[in-house]
Amino acid sequence: MSEVIFPRLTIIGPGLIGGSIARAARVFGGIAGEITVSSRSQKTLDRVRELGFADIIEPSPAKAAEGADCVILCTPVGTYAALAEAIAPSLKPGAVISDVGSTKQSVIRDIGPFVPAGIHFVPAHPMAGTEFSGPDSGFAELFQGRWSLLTPPPGTDEAAIQKIEALWQKTGAQTARMDAAHHDRVLAIVSHLPHLIAFTICGTADDLADETRQEVLQFAATGFRDFTRIAASDPEMWRDIFQANKDAVLEMLARFSEDAQAMARAIRWGDTAYIEDKIIRSRKIRQSLIDLKQA
Ligand code: NAP
Repeated sequence: MSEVIFPRLTIIGPGLIGGSIARAARVFGGIAGEITVSSRSQKTLDRVRELGFADIIEPSPAKAAEGADCVILCTPVGTYAALAEAIAPSLKPGAVISDVGSTKQSVIRDIGPFVPAGIHFVPAHPMAGTEFSGPDSGFAELFQGRWSLLTPPPGTDEAAIQKIEALWQKTGAQTARMDAAHHDRVLAIVSHLPHLIAFTICGTADDLADETRQEVLQFAATGFRDFTRIAASDPEMWRDIFQANKDAVLEMLARFSEDAQAMARAIRWGDTAYIEDKIIRSRKIRQSLIDLKQA
């Protein structure tokens, strides 16, 4: 076999993200030799066997981690402490433990204390996803042209960081390094707040009187439809993200609420210049995303 970054790669949680990493490793090559997958439910393990993106399927996370050169946790962030504790005794010296969690300070807090001496912990977050979940939803190209942000704590082994960077680059992602607290504030505004708003808007629509709710569904305009797509995301994953990034999410929500109030005031008093300015600034943001090929 030609040279690979990790001869033995273990993925715990073969859902959208974990399943996509495994598929990318198969399709693009150079990432892993043998791929071991572990999941919570027998249903998912059976499905992974049918889909064929793993060499070894192992229900026990601890056994799946035995002998691995790299273990990537791809489960909801609220599960990381228990999983890290369970796999820590199985990790071989020099192994790398990484993750894909959407919040990074909580991940460092939860996994860090269980990382044994001689094991390298490199937290990462691929900024790619869809509203679908489970082993069927993944695909090899998910990370192409997207960012994967690494938040290694100070003092992390440089060679281990470079291996995780190389893994993500081979999936087609660009990588950047970032401080975990900074990551969490940025993500609160670009991802967590938009999801919070989407879940809230769908809840508001659902609370409407029966007749109105029926019309909302029947005549859903693109604006509402776009929110329902975002709001279709996995409940366990988002429950954990809001808990794990509580402070930054609440701070961004407070700022958003103030700005929404200012917009409400402009609408009430007919301040059309204010309203127009807000919309023009929003269009510029959209154009910037298109220019950066992130739209
Ligand atoms: P997913 O498709 O729902 O897959 C989750 C996987 O985790 C499944 O294999 C599931 O096992 C397992 N799992 C769930 N709860 C568990 C528990 N309590 N103990 C052990 N295993 C458990 O999720 P995903 O979208 O891939 O997200 C996984 C991680 O990636 C999350 O930490 C999320 O924050 C992060 N992330 C997600 C996105 C996104 O857009 N979706 C983007 C970037 C990062 P079973 O199927 O066997 O129950």
